[in-house]
Amino acid sequence: MDAIVNKLPGKEENMLDDSNNKPTQAEAEEAVRTLLRWMGEDITREGLLDTPKRVVKSYSELFGGYEADPSDVLGRTFEEVAGYNDIVLVKDIHFHSHCEHHMVPIIGKAHVAYLPDERVLGLSKIARVVDIFARRLQTQETLTSQVATSIDETLAPRGVAVMIEAEHMCMAMRGVRKQGSTTVTTRFTGEFEKPENQYRFLEMLRH
Ligand SMILES: [Zn+2]
Repeated sequence: MDAIVNKLPGKEENMLDDSNNKPTQAEAEEAVRTLLRWMGEDITREGLLDTPKRVVKSYSELFGGYEADPSDVLGRTFEEVAGYNDIVLVKDIHFHSHCEHHMVPIIGKAHVAYLPDERVLGLSKIARVVDIFARRLQTQETLTSQVATSIDETLAPRGVAVMIEAEHMCMAMRGVRKQGSTTVTTRFTGEFEKPENQYRFLEMLRH
């Protein structure tokens, strides 16, 4: 497995899609039909006739993050700021993702901060990066880390802080069936590894 991944230099860790092997739309629809039959459904009944097509279309939106490259969104051009050097925080970025274990929704919000080193990002770009990684099969830990790393590598700020709070439907709807529990993950790089900056980040989130 490692050997296969290593053969794709320059590919991002989560982009394992080999387009030569990508199933066709018809094959994907057939797979949905198989699941429907397995569930005990009658795939010939009227309400389900277009369902495989709709599911595949919906998946291509929900999992559209595989097609997008966050470094394109973050871009190579940044805005210069006249002397601003303190924390930039974008909080409450709502997202929907899917857990890679059950393909069931993860619903939550991300808070992303960085300490600029002379240049800043357009604020909407941060939300778009969260969206790209969220629209892939995920674990919350990986999502948190990927958002931090991509901003860190592209913008090269003095530090990045990411906190994600999310509810996992695989815990709410199945398994232990615990609703309303929130999982919190954080990732700090650079100057945000210092406790005093983490404290400021958490204080800014509280207000
Ligand atoms: Zn799960």
